[in-house]
Amino acid sequence: MSVTLLYTGGTIGSAGVPLDTLPGPEFAALFDAHVRAHLPERVRKATLLHTDPTLDSTSMQPLDWLRLARRIVEIDGDVVVLHGTDTMAWTAAALAFLLQTYSAAGEVTGRLQKRVVVTGSQVPLFDGAGLAEGSDALGNLLGALAAARGGGGAVLHFAGDTLDAARVMKTSCTNWEAFTMPNGPGAATEVPATTAGNVLSSLEKLGAFFGRSAVIPLLAAPGAALGKQLAALASAEGYPLGAVHLLGFGIGNLPEELELTAALQHLRSQQIPVVISTQCPHGRIAPQTYAVGDWLSGCGVLGMGDRTPAAVQVKLHLTLALSALYGWGEQEMRAFLLRHVAGEDPPSGPVA
Ligand code: ASP
Repeated sequence: MSVTLLYTGGTIGSAGVPLDTLPGPEFAALFDAHVRAHLPERVRKATLLHTDPTLDSTSMQPLDWLRLARRIVEIDGDVVVLHGTDTMAWTAAALAFLLQTYSAAGEVTGRLQKRVVVTGSQVPLFDGAGLAEGSDALGNLLGALAAARGGGGAVLHFAGDTLDAARVMKTSCTNWEAFTMPNGPGAATEVPATTAGNVLSSLEKLGAFFGRSAVIPLLAAPGAALGKQLAALASAEGYPLGAVHLLGFGIGNLPEELELTAALQHLRSQQIPVVISTQCPHGRIAPQTYAVGDWLSGCGVLGMGDRTPAAVQVKLHLTLALSALYGWGEQEMRAFLLRHVAGEDPPSGPVA
């Protein structure tokens, strides 16, 4: 199968002080002049495309995931995506969820059979004189091209590791090994192959609803006044509140306070999904363990097991879009959120 490179921006293609993403044509000129000769023979002539605009990944939004997914589907063969590291875990998770199709009941019906490898670097590929010395960029690019040989689905390649797209986190902003899977790999999902046409039409239908409402992550901390924050969010004008992702303490704990209980009950009455995971990078939550966590299920808050914050965020966006598309109520949304659909859960099983 052929491989295409798709440059989206990020450190790998950044230059200047402070660093900023190069536009596609400038990156392509430097790539042809300095990188091609280092590529293995079989991919030396690989097509290099770019998104328009290219973006530092910090500025990417949910609609950018959808555009990127569409672009990838339209490309024949495997794709290596050159991307910034800041939101790479979200984009990788989004590709795992979006490059497949869903029935009106929220079952996965098919997956695109192409390898998509997302990569980037901690240091730019180029400096003023050509290839930057001591950068991790060329090594990551070569590793990603090697990982694009076979298999299907989305993965993230970095510092020699090929990691599951829906289980990966950026766990260092300075080390070469920027990405890890703190909770290990995800469970494999047996999904029949589907065509590019089917995935494009699914993305087209989702496009009317995806990323249109806010999915808000809220970090618990002493004094964070989560009840007040939620009440303010629920009444904010201009950007409708779609869903809330609580990042609780430990195994999924939050203090039971009157204001928080009232806010959660209000959100439930509005059919706004609220889920909880932990702010600890490692471990699976079990909110029923302590009284300070057990009360949450009574307010309709759903535990997210050991999923990454990125996978939870992306899945909430997808849930809202499918729900708007198929007219789901609370039960269908909850069932979809709990189901394992894109490698987001561990082999030991979906969230409890
Ligand atoms: N801010 C950059 C980005 O995410 C950081 C990086 O690529 O490492 O695009």
